[in-house]
Amino acid sequence: MNQPNWNEDEFDLTLSQRTEELYRVPNMEPKADGFIEAAVLPLRDMVIFPRMVSPIFIGREASLMALEEAQTKEQTVIGLTQRDPDVEDPTAEDFLPIGVEMAVGRLLDMPDGSHSALVQGRRRVEIVEFLRLKPYIRVRARIIHEPNAADRQTQALMRSVLNQFERCIQLDRSIPEEAHVFALNISEPGWLADMITTSLGLTYEAKLRLLMILEPKARLGQLTNLLAAELDVLELEDEIHTRVQNEVDKSQREYYLREQMKQIQTELGEGDIFTRDTVDLKKRLETTVLPDEVRKAAMKEVERLSQMPPMAPEVGIIRTYIDWILDLPWNNLTADNLDVKNAAKTLERDHFGLKKAKERILEYIAVRSLKPKKERQPILCFVGPPGVGKTSLGRSIADSLGRKFVRVSLGGVRDEAEIRGHRRTYIGALPGRIIQTMKRAGASNPLFMLDEIDKLYSDFRGDPASAMLEVLDPEQNNSFSDHYLELPFDLSKVMFVTTANSLSSIPAPLLDRMEVIEFPGYIEEEKVEIANRYLIPRQIEENGIEELGVAFELPALQRIIREYTYEAGVRGLEREIGRVCRKVARMKAEGKKYPTAITPDLVEKFLGPQQVFPSEAERQNEVGVATSLAWTETGGEIMAVEVAIIEGKGGLQMTGQMGEVMQESAQAAMTYIKSRAAALKIDMDMFERMDIHIHMPEGGIPKDGPSAGITMATAIISALTGRHVLKHVGMTGEITLRGRVLPIGGVREKVLAAHRAGLKTVILPEKNMKDLVELPKTVRSEMKIVPVQHMDDVLEIALGKQKVIDPPKPRKRQDEQGEE
Ligand code: ADP
Repeated sequence: MNQPNWNEDEFDLTLSQRTEELYRVPNMEPKADGFIEAAVLPLRDMVIFPRMVSPIFIGREASLMALEEAQTKEQTVIGLTQRDPDVEDPTAEDFLPIGVEMAVGRLLDMPDGSHSALVQGRRRVEIVEFLRLKPYIRVRARIIHEPNAADRQTQALMRSVLNQFERCIQLDRSIPEEAHVFALNISEPGWLADMITTSLGLTYEAKLRLLMILEPKARLGQLTNLLAAELDVLELEDEIHTRVQNEVDKSQREYYLREQMKQIQTELGEGDIFTRDTVDLKKRLETTVLPDEVRKAAMKEVERLSQMPPMAPEVGIIRTYIDWILDLPWNNLTADNLDVKNAAKTLERDHFGLKKAKERILEYIAVRSLKPKKERQPILCFVGPPGVGKTSLGRSIADSLGRKFVRVSLGGVRDEAEIRGHRRTYIGALPGRIIQTMKRAGASNPLFMLDEIDKLYSDFRGDPASAMLEVLDPEQNNSFSDHYLELPFDLSKVMFVTTANSLSSIPAPLLDRMEVIEFPGYIEEEKVEIANRYLIPRQIEENGIEELGVAFELPALQRIIREYTYEAGVRGLEREIGRVCRKVARMKAEGKKYPTAITPDLVEKFLGPQQVFPSEAERQNEVGVATSLAWTETGGEIMAVEVAIIEGKGGLQMTGQMGEVMQESAQAAMTYIKSRAAALKIDMDMFERMDIHIHMPEGGIPKDGPSAGITMATAIISALTGRHVLKHVGMTGEITLRGRVLPIGGVREKVLAAHRAGLKTVILPEKNMKDLVELPKTVRSEMKIVPVQHMDDVLEIALGKQKVIDPPKPRKRQDEQGEE
């Protein structure tokens, strides 16, 4: 039997029709005792509610008879539900005690010989008595009257049922929305419950239970419970549905877009770009020279690529990766030019001096030419101040060997990943600097310059120095591992040249693997030579004034070197020469008269007032000021040490950013002086009555090291004895408590700085004399270099022999000073 359903097409009745009494039932008014007598229509698996319209199918003969007779007599029937639907001939016990009086519409004959009819429930009845069972059942029943109005409690129940019903309709699309409007307009509580019950897809048992509840309030109560349970299920269903729908929507959208793209590509005659692309990549991989292992790995990636939807986010990542593999020089060597004579010519052509470096390169080329299979490449380390030609010599070596030249700066690299790259799982990952530079080189045996290897940092982000170790270790660098590539890369054919300003800050294990070649700073004569041979011609050419015949006079060049630059290298010199050339170029371009001979006066005119003052050389002989020679990363420097004695209690004060070692060195000097006070003619009592203040000017620059020891001692003794320090004397050396002078480092740079500053005498520890071998001859001939072993020797040279006329007294402190 059919379940009643609002959506039944066959009996599509509007809601308003359902509210009306469809069928006339004039003969069924209750008798005086309130009972009615009517035929029974036994119902199986079906519950009819008052006012509900429903089709029924009539199978049983008895039922047909009951209906026909009711129609002829224009009477209603009572729909009674069987307890057990399978009973064919039910008797009184087989029925539920509550039924619904129904009006019956026209009987329809069906093609299979059965019949159907539309029925509409009228009201609940309670069976009082079975009048007869044959040929069809007739009963006497009591009409159950339901109240039209609702008390407040019932009204609340009605409202809550309505709310639940509304929510149900939102969630369950099978219930038409107007059902809610309809329900809203029902004022009778019992009817509201019945109407909602029939609208919902409740189970048969639930419906039966609701039919049996005669009290409207109780019926509503039961209904809210059922609705709550129903809502739970519906909400869960809805949630699942939404989730499924979202998934479906997304993949449908993608599918749709992809189809569209295909169509667009076909329209444009491009075919399937993506497929063509992967085929292309495969072809390239097959034809490019690659190690087998690399090719295999790359092919695998192409396979992955071809199985991906073209819009997948990984596509770009994999493509970039394959491009990297294809672009890297895995195994294409350039042929070396191992002609020693030719190399010598190239090196001489490009650079002045730098004998040691050039010789080492030529030796290397010679060995290679005799033993071409020799695998190991030397790792050279060029150490020296900036602008002395380290980089440009590297370039020239590459030139003479016929190798590619690449360069990467390691200055400030803190993170190992900068050298080794990031794993591909990181967004935007790339190979590290080594692999990137190899790609730029385009050959697997370039000359690879690693600049500023002394400026590598190491901290919590990993140790870039250890990664560099792998790069520079001939045992390991044939399979250098980059995090991005994840494939070993052979660096063993690369010729590495590193550069540094200072040896001391290169990590020892790295230094161990390198062959150090020192580049000293240049003296003036060398600078002049380099300028004439290389810098001036280059600048003249770069500024397009070849035709003008411009020449720099020697005094002009000297003036630039002395008054406009202060450096160990020639970078500043080249810059100033360039400026002069540009001035001339501009005059020419403006049609003015331009000079061809650059004189010292023109230099001042073009470059402005003097920039560097050799103040030290112009100084007077002074008390309490001595000149120290210092080593810095940019070459040597001369530095004044000032000492003042002031009233106090024997303290020692040190300023000018002096490091710990330097301060200790000052204390050692003090102790030595005290122990020699008598010989130096210093009154011992004086130490009790005064403070000594040592200051190193240019207080902003940190200074350290023991090599100012003898200078500090000299300055203090000068201050205590009132003897002048000779202005043309510079010195360097460590002092011991007994006054012995110990050797120090950076001698060449220091001596060159002294020479640059115009000092005439340099005091050096005797043991350092061996370091002077490579000093240019002019320097040795223009300056007196005096080896010393003891502080006594130092004083003899540095302090004038003049008599002290007025022995010094400690100066009064500022706050107590009256007049001075
Ligand atoms: P570094 O790498 O040591 O800092 P560079 O190689 O950059 O110095 O040199 C700076 C400039 O000085 C370059 O133009 C270079 O050609 C020039 N130069 C330095 N030394 C010489 C030299 N001995 N002969 C010719 N040119 C030189």
